[in-house]
Amino acid sequence: MSEQEQQHTNPTATATETTPKTAGAVTQPGPDAETLARVADAKRRISAYVDEVLPEYQKISLAIHDKPEVSNYEFFASQTLSDRLKQEGFDVTLGVADHRTGFSALYRTGKPGPVVVFLAEYDALPGVGHGCGHSVFGPNSSLAAASLKRVIDEFGGELRVYGTPGEEGGENGSAKGSFVKDGFFDDVDIALCAHPHAGGNGLSSRNLACQPVDIEFHGKASHAAASPERGINALDGVIQTFNSINALRQHLPKDVRIHGVIVDGGVQPNVVPDYAKAKFYLRSASVPGLLALRKKVENIVAGAALATGAKGSLTPYQNQVDNMIPTPLFDAIWKRNAEALGQTVEATEQDKVVFGSSDVGNVSQVVPTIQPWFSISPENLGGHNEQVAAVCFVKLVSAFCAVFFRSVGSGFSAVCAVSAAACLRVLLCCLVIWS
Ligand SMILES: [Zn+2]
Ligand SMILES: [Zn+2]
Repeated sequence: MSEQEQQHTNPTATATETTPKTAGAVTQPGPDAETLARVADAKRRISAYVDEVLPEYQKISLAIHDKPEVSNYEFFASQTLSDRLKQEGFDVTLGVADHRTGFSALYRTGKPGPVVVFLAEYDALPGVGHGCGHSVFGPNSSLAAASLKRVIDEFGGELRVYGTPGEEGGENGSAKGSFVKDGFFDDVDIALCAHPHAGGNGLSSRNLACQPVDIEFHGKASHAAASPERGINALDGVIQTFNSINALRQHLPKDVRIHGVIVDGGVQPNVVPDYAKAKFYLRSASVPGLLALRKKVENIVAGAALATGAKGSLTPYQNQVDNMIPTPLFDAIWKRNAEALGQTVEATEQDKVVFGSSDVGNVSQVVPTIQPWFSISPENLGGHNEQVAAVCFVKLVSAFCAVFFRSVGSGFSAVCAVSAAACLRVLLCCLVIWS
């Protein structure tokens, strides 16, 4: 898929999917009645399994919620989820892709068919806890995979859950980038997940590519009053960098975001700081845009070093996060299944960029991917805050959550069933387009 195209498309599949043919419609023949009945029966059994085990997954969600762990420290969450998947009959490997809290869980049917991956996140935010709802995210993906496993033998293919730590970033954060680099998606056909949203249900959104970087300056300490001429002020390098970035903003495209904090600015005022450090996120709507932005900021750091005499550097401290490329076919299937279960899905424009970033974007660059939003609150509460964390907690034990879980399970089952066997024509089209 070329960078320019930036969308996983499949017009033929969109026209057919599992929708029965209507009189006079100019489309290729849809799946036959027997196939539709098979898929409907599979979905019924998936829902029944969700009902059966939902309380156990809710308990897991609550336990993860009560024990928030930040990027690459999610020892409890990864152990708990992977233990449960082992119990469900998956082959589990802990500590994969150079992430000690990452895992892979595999189930092979032994029959030909697509490799379907559910992505599980479970990291919390420092100081906020589960203010992004990942305490629901990981258990939900695991439950969806476990439910689909009940019927997948009839359709063929392989099911996986990838436990991907550190979505919120940090040292060695955004693990999905590592999974992509290490080849975990090389043989994968479809990647599926859904994100909690303190607002309405919504389709997968485009978001920004992001490069988190450390900007450091090394200078020379000296008495700030008695001998300032002997010192080189590293903090001035950082301040100059902030000022130059602010001057740059006027000339940047609308889809660019740059934001930083000073994490080390010296010790006390009477010592010229010999070291200073800032952390910045550089964001743009596309990877090429991001790389161009990074070059500009590198020039700013070099300019600040020249101006102050301090040595400056810009270093990424985690995986680059790529922008999300949506797959509208998957979203259409998800929406239809959610609506069939009484949910309302907001008609969002999928071309609209959401001004955040997620490492699910890295996956979407190499495999058709879905990450719709599911409502955990009727009221829009924003994100990354304590209200969201509180809502996650409440909703997990509510009846609504049961409906949500079921809707996700059914939506995903439809994707897999369609691709695996129900409509070979769709699968072939998909493979041609994706290869
Ligand atoms: Zn978040
Ligand atoms: Zn999140």
